[in-house]
Amino acid sequence: MRVRLAPSPTGTLHIGTARTAVFNWLFARHQGGRFLLRIEDTDRERSRPEYTENILDGLRWLGLDWDGEPVIQSERVEVHRSAIQQLLDRGLAYRCYASEAELTAMRDEQAARKLAPRYDNRHRDLSPEQERAFIAEGREAVVRFRIDDGRTIGWTDLVRGAMRWSGSDLGGDMVIARRAPADRIGDPLYNLVVVVDDAAMAISHVIRGEDHIANTAKQLLLYEALGVEAPVFAHTPLILNQEGRKLSKRDGVTSISDFRGMGYTPEALANYMTLLGWSPPEGMGERFSLAEAAAVFGFERVNRAGARFDWDKLNWLNGQVLREAGPEALRDQLRPLWAARGWGEPGGTSPALADAAWQADLCELLGPSLTLLADGVAQAEPFFTTPELNEAAQAQLASDGARPALAALLEQLPEGALEAGQAQELLSSAASSAGVKKGVIMKSLRAALLGSLQGPDLLATWLLLHRSGDDRARISRCL
Ligand code: GLU
Repeated sequence: MRVRLAPSPTGTLHIGTARTAVFNWLFARHQGGRFLLRIEDTDRERSRPEYTENILDGLRWLGLDWDGEPVIQSERVEVHRSAIQQLLDRGLAYRCYASEAELTAMRDEQAARKLAPRYDNRHRDLSPEQERAFIAEGREAVVRFRIDDGRTIGWTDLVRGAMRWSGSDLGGDMVIARRAPADRIGDPLYNLVVVVDDAAMAISHVIRGEDHIANTAKQLLLYEALGVEAPVFAHTPLILNQEGRKLSKRDGVTSISDFRGMGYTPEALANYMTLLGWSPPEGMGERFSLAEAAAVFGFERVNRAGARFDWDKLNWLNGQVLREAGPEALRDQLRPLWAARGWGEPGGTSPALADAAWQADLCELLGPSLTLLADGVAQAEPFFTTPELNEAAQAQLASDGARPALAALLEQLPEGALEAGQAQELLSSAASSAGVKKGVIMKSLRAALLGSLQGPDLLATWLLLHRSGDDRARISRCL
């Protein structure tokens, strides 16, 4: 069992390509097969080495390891040309001398008659004299592969089941090599090179996006013509945007580097991409590792319908990933980001803030509300630095009984350790001595401690700020 990912290095690693990589990887790892890479860099104008680097780097980051060295397609051009020569020699391909102007006129006429654009096979059976005349005119030629209109092409797709195409729907004889002087074969084109390379790499299963279905029909004809056994095909559903249309560059974030730059973890992104078109078996839940998915992956659970991109689910998964390794692991990830702001550094103003256990407890408290790692910076800020009071906090502190209640609390606040039960009692007794409901003191304490009425669990917040020795000063500044 051998599969491959065949990215074109004409841009950074796109989410669609990455998702194709995920399905190939899962299938290979499930079957104990091999996952190969082929860099399809034959479009020399648009291919760039830095895109190849970006693609390989993105795959590594996602944890999609491949087997062996990537095959570089451009190094195989002579092999591609000799396959074309073989098709020419056998009369299965021919040179077409039609000029751009002629082809444009042909298409204009088809459009005027409301016909689908197709090449009308006009140079399919040129006589040797006609051909010599075109060459004498100095015309260049493309190489076309014959596609008979009467042909039917069928295959069993692992996702879509029985597929059937008619030769007449493939746009006429297909160009397999770009224009070149007539004694040469120009640059071989996608459908031909893919077939030659997949055959040479002994690919058993081609797993790719459903936008390639028509190519598959054409490629099957080429397998037949070249006398090689065709692989099995699986066409995965498209990724759709919020509006249900194919996800495109216009949708903004589509490159793996973008997601990475936004702070998504590779685990969450790989998990999310697996869910784009694949349904995990009952009981598995939606959060799983690539290895866990590989253990059960199969095409019977890949949907035919397009998969709508769901930011909420990706965000949820990312939060899961951030939390699941535990508060210490989260702290270790956040520490450098905090340190960059001068927070919680050993030797800093407050030794308590640099305490590893205190920081882990802070992570435990913040964990449930984090989506991205960066949220752990924004939400930790009021713990490391005393926040200004926002308008709502000021209004709360100005309300009836708020300040007397806080004053009563401050009076009874111990210098040393504070336990949860004791803190609860303090709240009750401060409320009753100020003659307010417990809700008032709680809201006011939150306002004093965090400068806002929003934030994590109040009791845990207070206990942490008591441990760092910051609660007293924050309360007294409000009185
Ligand atoms: N280079 C092609 C692409 O990126 C490969 C398609 C295929 O898997 O055959 O779309």
